[in-house]
Amino acid sequence: MAEIIDGQRIAGEFCDHIRDKVQEIKKAGIEPCIALVNASQDPSSEIYVSRKMKMAKYVGITSLVHRFNSDATGNDVADLIGKLNDDDRIHAILLQSPLPQNFVFRELVNLIRPDKDVDGLTTLNQGRLFSGEPGIIPCTPMGVMHLLNIVHPQLAGMHAVVLGRSSIVGRPLAQLLLNADCTVTMLHSRSKNMAEICRSADVLVSAIGRPRFVLKNFIRPGATVIDVGVNKIEENGARKIVGDVDFDGVFGIAGAITPVPKGVGPMTVAYLMHNTLKLAYCY
Ligand code: NAP
Repeated sequence: MAEIIDGQRIAGEFCDHIRDKVQEIKKAGIEPCIALVNASQDPSSEIYVSRKMKMAKYVGITSLVHRFNSDATGNDVADLIGKLNDDDRIHAILLQSPLPQNFVFRELVNLIRPDKDVDGLTTLNQGRLFSGEPGIIPCTPMGVMHLLNIVHPQLAGMHAVVLGRSSIVGRPLAQLLLNADCTVTMLHSRSKNMAEICRSADVLVSAIGRPRFVLKNFIRPGATVIDVGVNKIEENGARKIVGDVDFDGVFGIAGAITPVPKGVGPMTVAYLMHNTLKLAYCY
């Protein structure tokens, strides 16, 4: 049976450490502050925003939330980002996704000043990651690497398979794994023989948003499985959140596995705090 990687506990410990660091920089006269921009009309986004505010409060970071109604336009969001860029009190700006379909996420995210881009999604910060220059790295892949480094302090030479190639999770994660000297394979919706390729993985990370897609025949015995997926389903008349991995099936064969919820999700929030602190302190 697999070891369960307790993301909730690990994120909690990491946030305690961030809290201490926040106290230190406050003594130096810096008040770290993040602006959360929520133009998403998806009800889950408000839940994610309130979790981020709660954790910011815990670690001592000021969070300011800007919400938009359903009649807001891309120009309204662009105007706000411009104001936040010019506001010296604000160190970090997060544009909550998903945005409604009439918004172009990449255009809006690229309006964020790269030195306030807390999720590392501007083209400049993504380019820095891919060229090996220091910059801000997306929170979820950083959280995944934190968990992996606990299970495998030495990742070099391992075969890591990443399912999903989004610019927010799959691509930056593959780059971080490559930087850690893994042999990396990326799979996506057009890939073939996925189960077979996944079975050759020492480390398997799924970020595709397909409930229970990864079955036990995808897993090499003893492999480490990180489930980034967050999928809402209805089962036996009840609403549930499940990952991309069929946890019950995979639990008996994997060496270590993250649960959903309480796996990667809390690590994403923790790294949002980490990146805010970094922007307040280093830039
Ligand atoms: P996304 O932008 O929709 O990207 C999904 C990726 O999965 C795409 O690359 C897509 O391939 C691939 N894919 C879709 N169906 C597939 C299939 N049947 N087989 C193989 N690949 C498939 O999603 P995302 O933003 O990366 O998020 C992915 C999941 O992670 C979602 O459930 C999201 O809610 C979750 N998430 C969780 C956290 C967290 O903190 N826990 C953070 C971010 C995201 P193509 O490129 O070919 O279309």
